[in-house]
Amino acid sequence: TTTAAHQLPEQLPDLDWITDPLRVGRLSQDFAWFSPVLKRELAGKRAEIAVRPRSEDEIRQVVAACASAGIPITVRGSGTGNYGQCTPLHGGVILDLSAYNAFGWVRGGVGRAQAGIRLADFDAQAKPLGQELRWLPSTYRSATLGGLFGGGFGGAGSINHGPLAAPGNVLAVRAMSVEPDPQVIELRGAEAMRLHHTYGTNGIVLELEVALTPAIAWTECIASFDDFDAALEFADRFACAPGLEKKEVCFLAAPIPEYFTSLAEHLRAGCHAVLLLVAPHSEAGMREMAALHGGQISYRKTAEEVKAGNKTLVEYTWNHTTLHALKIDKNLTYIQSGFTPQRRIEQVKALQAALQGEVMMHLEFLRTKEGAPNCSGLQLIRYTTEERLNQIMQIHRDHGVQINNPHVYIVEDGKQNNLDPAVVATKQRFDPQGLLNPGKLRSWEAVQPVRQTA
Ligand code: FAD
Repeated sequence: TTTAAHQLPEQLPDLDWITDPLRVGRLSQDFAWFSPVLKRELAGKRAEIAVRPRSEDEIRQVVAACASAGIPITVRGSGTGNYGQCTPLHGGVILDLSAYNAFGWVRGGVGRAQAGIRLADFDAQAKPLGQELRWLPSTYRSATLGGLFGGGFGGAGSINHGPLAAPGNVLAVRAMSVEPDPQVIELRGAEAMRLHHTYGTNGIVLELEVALTPAIAWTECIASFDDFDAALEFADRFACAPGLEKKEVCFLAAPIPEYFTSLAEHLRAGCHAVLLLVAPHSEAGMREMAALHGGQISYRKTAEEVKAGNKTLVEYTWNHTTLHALKIDKNLTYIQSGFTPQRRIEQVKALQAALQGEVMMHLEFLRTKEGAPNCSGLQLIRYTTEERLNQIMQIHRDHGVQINNPHVYIVEDGKQNNLDPAVVATKQRFDPQGLLNPGKLRSWEAVQPVRQTA
């Protein structure tokens, strides 16, 4: 059947349309398959067609045509999201922004680029100018700046600067509305943040302006330990040590390191590992601290060696840990959790004691949005049933740990229903017809009459 979406290439023949059903299917997916629940719930959900605009004018042409015909638009960066964020629930068009990727400028400690730029490409441009991004998700090689803002949280660097959402990290966005006559508006500060982590439901981000940090030639190390408590204490003390400059502190309890087959020679069986990026001038201090806790530096690469070998420990941290583990054991899944800053160590130990064997502890050390030292969990789970998975999440809540459920695809469900009402007002302003990734922002849908899409 020919739908309104299928007729778009005829209307706009100069654009780069993707009609091949296999490719459109692929562009309709992300890494939601990490979750057995999402894999089932999102099966078969797909766009009718995809388009890869190269300029703001081409984006405007697509948006105007879709708004006039009532066709849903789902924005896509690189599709590395984990919650089906770029999977359309109601067909329509995938607006693939990966070709809208020009680097803008770096001035002082600030940088600007088009939304489709890959994070690795941004840093490659910024570093010779003495600056780098404040947060690097482990997907930085392929993930886009717009996608990180639309669906991500943070990454390596969040130990210093907190998540993207911390005030002052993202300075401004230039965004397009979805209307027959699309409007382009620059939003700054808190207003810009209303488009953050809203899965492309309340505006199309064209450009981002972000605060940067002075570039450092990070040394990458693994400290390995025989004892869980000693490894945890080291990770926490190193993470908090104000004089030791670092970009990443990732704690992996046994047996997680054993999933890293490509690092096997550096990780003895049964060890607990702390993966870290440290400034060269802080390495000696880090080593002293590791030795005090009975740790052994079992892997070390300078920034030059990392570059020459094209292999970085960043790609073993955050959700790359989960990816490596899933390659070895398909029956695993994961949860995301936020500890209570003042009680983090006690909570980690209590949960380790309660769930050891079924839940494997993976912690990412960071600062909260408010600046407190903390850790967040990306624990690996030996999956049995959805019921047990929910119980495990409840056990965490019972210990006072916050769960950011990665097995849901609605914006509010991943935020314990704490949605700023201004997000909904922003959607009303940028997407009055409700065409952007429909079905994902429940608070907005709830105040609209029922809509049928093709
Ligand atoms: P997509 O997946 O393409 O898009 C994400 C969301 O943003 C979608 O809802 C999309 O509609 C929306 N969007 C994209 N571009 C725009 C735009 N221009 N305007 C409006 N909306 C837009 N996340 C982290 O935060 N930290 C990590 O360390 C991390 N590690 C990961 C590791 C693995 C192995 C995987 C699979 C995922 C990981 N993620 C992580 C999640 C994901 O990689 C990040 O969120 C990433 O930054 C998304 O970028 P993307 O370009 O792939 O976005």
